[in-house]
Amino acid sequence: MTSPSLRAQRGPLPLSLDQDPPAVNLVCGECSAVNRVPESKLLDQPVCGRCKSPLLQRSPVDLNENNFAKFISRTELPVLVDFWAPWCGPCRMMAPAFAEAAAKLSPRVLLAKLDTDAAPRTASQFAISGIPTVILFRSGSEVARQSGVLNARQIAEFVGLS
Ligand SMILES: [Zn+2]
Repeated sequence: MTSPSLRAQRGPLPLSLDQDPPAVNLVCGECSAVNRVPESKLLDQPVCGRCKSPLLQRSPVDLNENNFAKFISRTELPVLVDFWAPWCGPCRMMAPAFAEAAAKLSPRVLLAKLDTDAAPRTASQFAISGIPTVILFRSGSEVARQSGVLNARQIAEFVGLS
């Protein structure tokens, strides 16, 4: 007869040889740290390991000239960026729809905004000629873009999640 204490002395069972659970890299919108988050935790409001900011906000992430490239290239979820400017009436008209879509689509797609006036280098890198323009990125590459005002349903359709 094997007592529980004897069994315990043999130590833990061998670890499973399975791969680690699926996880994705998320870039912190505040400090740009790259955080590896298990897919099973995406809905548990993960926070940045470095600065404790929420990694998945239900509102668009504000990007700028300094964090844009790293955020786009290292985030392992699709990212939809709204290129806009404060003086642009249609951009301001679209802002509530974009915020609504951000809440609805996270964490399947992350929504972010770039003020093209404050980030002219990035705007010119992507040859933004009219605003608002939205660009969908996957693994750092542009996969689709569209100019003009979109409502929340059209934004969901554009990223394939209507
Ligand atoms: Zn952070």
